[in-house]
Order: sequence, then C-alpha cells, then structure tokens
Amino acid sequence: MRVAILSIGDELLTGEVTDTNASHIAGRIYDCGARVYRHLTVPDDEEAIAQALTELAAASDAVIVTGGLGPTPDDYTAQGAARAAGVELELSQTALEHLAEFEKRIARPLHPANRRQALFPKGFRLIPNPLGTACGFGITIGQAELFFLPGVPYEMERMLAETVLPELAKRLRAPWRRITLKLFGIPEAAIAERLEGALPADAPVQLAYCVKYPEIHVILRAAATDAQLMEEAAGEVRKRLAQYLFAEDEDTMDCVLARLLRESGVTLALAESCTGGMIAARITAVAGSSAYFLEGNVTYSNAAKSRMIGVPPELIERHGAVSAEVARAMAQGAREASGSDLALSVTGIAGPDGGTPEKPVGTVYIALADAGSCRIERCNFQGDRDRVRSITCFTALNWLRE
Ligand code: ATP
Ligand code: MG
Repeated sequence: MRVAILSIGDELLTGEVTDTNASHIAGRIYDCGARVYRHLTVPDDEEAIAQALTELAAASDAVIVTGGLGPTPDDYTAQGAARAAGVELELSQTALEHLAEFEKRIARPLHPANRRQALFPKGFRLIPNPLGTACGFGITIGQAELFFLPGVPYEMERMLAETVLPELAKRLRAPWRRITLKLFGIPEAAIAERLEGALPADAPVQLAYCVKYPEIHVILRAAATDAQLMEEAAGEVRKRLAQYLFAEDEDTMDCVLARLLRESGVTLALAESCTGGMIAARITAVAGSSAYFLEGNVTYSNAAKSRMIGVPPELIERHGAVSAEVARAMAQGAREASGSDLALSVTGIAGPDGGTPEKPVGTVYIALADAGSCRIERCNFQGDRDRVRSITCFTALNWLRE
C-alpha cells in the first residue's frame, strides 16, 4: 500500500513550526505495516494544495493530510481538496452541530467564521474530532483515499488513531512490529561494535540506531509473522548491552525511575545548582511522585547553598562552588534539611562563561548521599549550555536508577 503525507501550512515553510505531525504519522503508518513513500509540504494556498493533492492522489493508495482546517481566512485546505476532486463545497449539518456544541461547552458563542469549518467537498465522510472544533473529512479521488486532519498535533493524533488507522488497517497486510531498546552512557560506535554478529546474517530482522540525545535507541523491526525471531534477536541485544539499557518501547527514564523509587519505599530530596530545577521537574512529571519525592532545592547562588542547605561558606571559599566537597555538602545538607533517605546534588559549569583551565565548561560534580555514604563523581561533559544541562540531568536520574 502506497501512503503519502501532505503537510499544509505557511508556518512549516518559514521554520516557525517543526513538522512533528509528519513524523508521527509516518511512524504510526509504519507500525501498521505500510510505508510512507512520499511527504510533501505546501503553503496555505488553494492552488498549491489542489496541485499537490492531484499529484499525490494519482500515485497513492492513501494520502494523509494535516493542517489548514481552521476558521481563519488563511486556511484553504477544504477549498483545495474540492478543487482537486472537481466538486463543490457543501455544508455538513453534523459538523456545524459539533462546532456549536463545542463552543457551548467552553461558553463561547459560535462565531460566524466557524461556519467555514463545516464546509467540505461534496461526497465527504466526516472524521469526528473529540478534542477541538475542526472536524476532519475523508474523500476519494480516483483510486486514492484521502484523509484530512487538523494541524494541532494532539487533535490530529487522536483522530488518526481512532478513525484513519482502523480504516487503513482493513486494507493492510501483516503489520510490522518494533522493539525499541533505550540506552544511555555508551557511544553509538561502541554499540555497533558490541552488536557485531548479534543477529544471523539472514535474520529477517532489521536493526537501526536512532540518537535522541542524550539517549540512543536501538530499534529492531520485523514482520509480525517473524515476531518470535525478533524476540530472540532482542534478547541477544539486551544481553550485550544490559548495563546501558534503561527502558524499552514507550517506557521512559522518568517512568522507570518512578517505579523503582515507589517500589523501594525510599524518599528523595534534591539540591540543584547548574540544572536549576530540571531534575525536580522530570521527577514530578510522573503522577504519584509525592510518594517518594520530598523536596528540591534550587541553590544557585553560594549564599543559597549555605542558607538553604547549610553548606559552610568556608568550604565554598576554599574549593569553589563547583567541587567534589561542595557537591557532597549539598547532598548531605539536602538530606538533613528534608529528612529524606536519599539526596542527590549537582553543581557544575554549564557555560558559555565561567570555565577555567582546571574546570572548563562542562565540568559537573554529582553527589548522591544516603545515611552512611556519599558517592561523588566529576563529569566532563561536552557541548553548549543546553546539552550540558540536559546530560547532567539525565546522568543524575540514571544514578538514581542504578
Ligand atoms: P485550527 O482549528 O487550530 O486552526 P488547523 O487545522 O487550521 O486547526 P493549523 O492552523 O494548520 O491547523 O495549525 C494549528 C497549529 O497546529 C499551528 O499553529 C501549529 O502550531 C500546529 N501545527 C500545524 N501543522 C503542524 C505540523 N505539521 N506539525 C506540527 N504542528 C503543526
Ligand atoms: Mg494553518
């Protein structure tokens, strides 16, 4: 089955908005057992939309379109679709009622401009939108089924999952399966080296690498009929990379950590300097974190390190705020102040300024204190401020997991 994606929107061509819709759709289509062979992006322009649709409809079994279904006069998708199909627009009573209902729910009167959102090319099939005003629609041009969805990602994703994919699935061969193994702390080249010969040369399993900084994902793909072989291959990969593997598939570092903390029953406090609360944000992003997370101190200034968690000013004076001694005092201080079982601290130089020859930008100390001991390490991270902060955060979370 040949599937194409058409992204519509001026903002996609000016670099203001990243086209995450296309990558989401391509991934879901792949999981269903088909493959996107082409992806086009056109501006909010009736002529350009009509042309692209005509071209894609002639060469595809299915075309999935996002964007330009809004109420504003710069949204032309329905007009472009009608022109490509060679039909008029007609009003959908159902879509109009949905609009009125939606606006009533959020206590807003229906604006006359919203009527535009209930106009679809004659012969349309309505695609309900449970999350927003813009209904989608499906039409047929020649051999191709075309599906039009709104640009707003979370609305689009829901409608794709609930309406479009089930419809396509009826026409598909056996779907593909994939297993995503998420790794941290090992470079891509080293992964490839460790995996040499892991899969028999004739195995019907594809292996791919995907860098999602600072994570690296190893992705195994195979036809659903080869699921058993893929599971065996995944077992071998897991074995070879066990110490770096932190999660699989939809699981994330945050969720893995949350489970571990909840199950172990220990409580946690933080003292963050260069990450400014990022670690606390990740930990509290998981529902139920109050069961183990007591508090996070963003002790950015030297004075705050002393006042909030009792780091002796002389210690900072003598060793500098970015030092093993201060990292330890921060962790122990945060532990005592909160009464937690564990406390983690980070202090470092995220840059771009502040580096010295002894402590260049990227120098970060991490410390983890419990009742009897304190693990401390110096890390020398590379990259700009964002990268240093995000890898510091991830490394600290990984310490908690270990
Ligand atoms: P609305 O009812 O919100 O007007 P719409 O179908 O007209 O829906 P657009 O106006 O094209 O959608 O896009 C709405 C917002 O969705 C955009 O401002 C943009 O932030 C986001 N968006 C649009 N297309 C994409 C895309 N391909 N990838 C990611 N985000 C997108
Ligand atoms: Mg738009």
